[in-house]
Amino acid sequence: MDTTALDLRTLAVHAGRDDLTALGVHVPPIDLSTTNPLPSIAAGGDSYEALASGGTPSAGGAVYGRLWNPTVARFESALAQLEQAEAAVAFATGMAAFSAALLAFATSTGKRHVVGVRPLYGGSDHLLASGLLGTEVTFCRPDQVAAALRPDTALVVMETPANPTLELVSIRAVADQAGDVPVLVDNTFATPILQNPLDHGAELVLHSATKYLGGHGDVMGGVIACSEALAERIRPIRAITGALLHPLAGYLLHRGLATLPLRVQAQQQTAGQVAEWLRGRPEVAEVFYPGSHGDPSGVLGTQLRGTGAMLAVRLAGGYPAAERLTSRVRLFTHAVSLGGVDSLIESPAALTHRPVAGDAKPDAGIVRMSIGLESAADLIADLAHGLQAH
Ligand code: PLP
Repeated sequence: MDTTALDLRTLAVHAGRDDLTALGVHVPPIDLSTTNPLPSIAAGGDSYEALASGGTPSAGGAVYGRLWNPTVARFESALAQLEQAEAAVAFATGMAAFSAALLAFATSTGKRHVVGVRPLYGGSDHLLASGLLGTEVTFCRPDQVAAALRPDTALVVMETPANPTLELVSIRAVADQAGDVPVLVDNTFATPILQNPLDHGAELVLHSATKYLGGHGDVMGGVIACSEALAERIRPIRAITGALLHPLAGYLLHRGLATLPLRVQAQQQTAGQVAEWLRGRPEVAEVFYPGSHGDPSGVLGTQLRGTGAMLAVRLAGGYPAAERLTSRVRLFTHAVSLGGVDSLIESPAALTHRPVAGDAKPDAGIVRMSIGLESAADLIADLAHGLQAH
């Protein structure tokens, strides 16, 4: 069946389930095998060879649980379809996925240089700044990518909407500057429901699946969507470093995708109402929500199909006001992470962006919120209580 014509809502509930009828089951089975019986030495060897060189299993089967797993593969197929990609490769966490991308396209190619377009998630920024995987980074702003390139640049890494100030970056503008150098876009905040970076010149899409894809705060994972040719370079790295997603997590993430469009739409609607209310509050010096600081590169409505459900505020009372707000709210949980059905609130400077160096670190008066499925009125009442001076 040609799935490219299907609406995202239809795809979200059907993708990655093609083999279920033949298996005689209605929901994807969870295959927990760590090893697989081999039909013969020759067939097992052929399959091992295919998997070790980045392909999919042949008649010899999956061979070993670190190489391939059918439950994970169903999730990968579904996510690839939502991102309009040929393939997806799933990992134990988002950071494992990012590490594999650096190893596959930078460290292992002899080209060590990576351009990091700031702002990035604190963990990604930290991994690049540390050089732990043998890479060397130049951080820059979106309009400085061309100047940051070197002959040995292997990858350009960017995030939009960016974390935590929801800055909008034109993927096309970055890709045009990058030329032949592949661009990796962290699409965690937007999800494939609101943005498909491959349509705008990116070659690799990264998700912390821990966030919206799972959507319930109970599963960690990461995934890269890309062409099959690039996936074949990433899978061997995943196998060698042992970073495959666990099948139980693969099952939960696949299930999470079914409600992703509805969750994102409902959470986005509430976030818009909360952002509007916050704009009228004297305790709030600045609201960060996609489009709130303009959209000079014309990203909203074209590259980004909605404003999403993440927002941040800079409090007029600075750090003490942030401490008061995060400790007084009751419906919002004071916790890192994002993208789940319940609302979270946190201080990026102290937590998610703690390792970010110097003036790239967010202001200590900024508080980030991930809006969940609660009612807007209840969340607004909770914030009103938290913002009170006494
Ligand atoms: N990218 C973004 C935008 C994130 O917010 C995070 C985690 O917070 C990551 C990547 C890393 O993902 P994980 O925590 O699943 O390793």
